[in-house]
Amino acid sequence: MLTRRITYRIYPSATQAAKLYLWKRMHCNLYNAALANRITQYKKFGKSVNYFKQQNSLPAFKTVWPEYVELGSQALQATLKRVDFAFERFFKGLGGCPRFKASRRYSGFTYPASVGWKCVTDAGLNGHLTISNLGKIQMRGQARTWGDPTTLTVFVRAGKWFASITVKCNPTRATGEGAVGGVRDRTPIDLGCKEAVTLSTGEQISKPDFIKAGELKVKVASRQLRRKRVPNRNKKIKASRKGKKARAIVSRHQRKVTRQRDNWLHQTTSNIVSSNSLVAGEQLNVKGMTARAKKGKRKKQKAGLNRSILSVGFAKISKMFEYKLAEGGGFYVESSTRQLKPSQRCAKCWELTPKTLKDRVHVCSNSKCGHVEDRDINAAQVNLIWAQGLGTSLLDGDGSSSTACGSMKQLAQMKRQKSQAVEGLGDLETPSLYRVG
Ligand SMILES: [Zn+2]
Repeated sequence: MLTRRITYRIYPSATQAAKLYLWKRMHCNLYNAALANRITQYKKFGKSVNYFKQQNSLPAFKTVWPEYVELGSQALQATLKRVDFAFERFFKGLGGCPRFKASRRYSGFTYPASVGWKCVTDAGLNGHLTISNLGKIQMRGQARTWGDPTTLTVFVRAGKWFASITVKCNPTRATGEGAVGGVRDRTPIDLGCKEAVTLSTGEQISKPDFIKAGELKVKVASRQLRRKRVPNRNKKIKASRKGKKARAIVSRHQRKVTRQRDNWLHQTTSNIVSSNSLVAGEQLNVKGMTARAKKGKRKKQKAGLNRSILSVGFAKISKMFEYKLAEGGGFYVESSTRQLKPSQRCAKCWELTPKTLKDRVHVCSNSKCGHVEDRDINAAQVNLIWAQGLGTSLLDGDGSSSTACGSMKQLAQMKRQKSQAVEGLGDLETPSLYRVG
């Protein structure tokens, strides 16, 4: 059984919404109180407070503040757990010391089990939600796979309320027999890359125009915002009325672009998965790629490149492929870019031809081969061949040609051998093997 999260828009009445806002603020206050408790106990008395101590003090807390009773004890525990998570992250060195949160930055609260709420829906399509001490709320949305609802998180975003429900389910997906490789486009045009993915079939997937139009709207709106008074808490300068309006417009456009891009990514990946059960991509070093340029002339260029790398969401694409192919029983294989060098390797003879980013066409330097292909298509094909495990057999002198992928059983074997294949490529790094015979 897997878990999937489905987010529904919910439509509370005016009184229900008022209550939801109140509850949200109360949960936020509890969060801050629990945080203060931990900090003062440690700083003043040298005592560390753990989650269970705080959970055990909840009944006493509720006798002092009886208005918290109607929120449900499990939901209150979940909020304390949030504080605990924040500290765990801090202790592991993953984040800074947890900070107090303003109510407007606190998005919502969670019911960690199926207690205190009930959801009635027809196989995940629309329906309604019943929350105890609040009542029935209409719900709109659709689940791809519905199952056993386990947790509920209610949150607000820009005045709209949402219910995020996790369900236990068995998602399935139909895939085809095909296999495809892909490569990111790294064409340097002025600032940044062309933001496209090239497939081994020669097809190119680039960002659709409506997303570009949306991004332009964000740009224009942020220019308007920049002309407004800048709020500064320390200097007690409040945001102006027009500034607040401009801010709201910017975030509205930003949200729309995000929704459109996510939708497009889902459609594109689903489409590819529907006809291919093996997708070969390349490992991403997003952190390295998006690291800020330290100094010098390239700084601005690097910033532009970073923006485009982040805006396409390559990491998102590979995650989508991974879980979507798993649903259909297929595989997503990532090649190690650094070891495989797909943009320099020849898809036919597996020989390396050094190229710069400007060289758009792969012309094999091996005189016996002389393979000519578009740079990106060649790289995508190399990724695919490697994923099919044929790359290693070519290295061993086995002249088997790269035909369609074998049975899934074979593929499973290949996946098991993947780690070995990486080692095999490691051997390739020794200069003696590079030499053209
Ligand atoms: Zn070649």
